[in-house]
Amino acid sequence: MKKLQKTNLQIDGMEVLLSPCAQSRCLRLKIDIKGGRAILTCPFGAKEKQIAVFLEKYAGWLHEKLDALPQKRFFEPETEVFLFGKKYLLTYRPGEKRGVYEEEGLLCVCGHREHFHRRTKDFIKKECQRQAQKTSEEFYKKLPSLPSCRFRVKEMTSRWGSCSGKGDISLSWRLALAPKEVFDYVVAHEMAHLKEMNHSAAFWEVVFSLFPAYKAARRWLSFQAKNLYTYE
Ligand SMILES: [Zn+2]
Repeated sequence: MKKLQKTNLQIDGMEVLLSPCAQSRCLRLKIDIKGGRAILTCPFGAKEKQIAVFLEKYAGWLHEKLDALPQKRFFEPETEVFLFGKKYLLTYRPGEKRGVYEEEGLLCVCGHREHFHRRTKDFIKKECQRQAQKTSEEFYKKLPSLPSCRFRVKEMTSRWGSCSGKGDISLSWRLALAPKEVFDYVVAHEMAHLKEMNHSAAFWEVVFSLFPAYKAARRWLSFQAKNLYTYE
């Protein structure tokens, strides 16, 4: 029997990611809010015909769910944005050649108007990197025995952070838009993996010693974080 592969399907102008998996016993459709798309899980042995009929049946439901997803947003002049919990008014400064800079509650962006969004996002990514470095220095003071690490800020869709066995920590740039405690918690979580590569009780003890208020931050991530994905 031909084994099904992970692939993108088109139904009624909508994209559905077909994701066959070993544990799956039946066809299941779900909406991936962060990725802004639909995912269909199915057993490896599912028939193409069966999948087509299933999608046909749920096309109406899919339209409704996908339409209800939050609209994608861009960084625009004269709109407010929260960075590490602090409010800024995005301001366009076309006549200046200073890149992106902060000025008393304003985040000023120079250059061509069509690059406004990208320049703002690049600035936020850099700030995220700087902030992670700063936060980690505080955590190293609390737990000097933690192995060293390097931070990389990336576009991530399924996780907020990750930590490799070599000490490379990746963070989602969108964490900059979350409250500062939430950002700090994710840094603490990934740094705790430098010591414990699992989510055991010992791991959570390390998280606690770095960032005692971690439970509230975790709760915020599970309930509020989907809003961070509205930014493109
Ligand atoms: Zn983890």
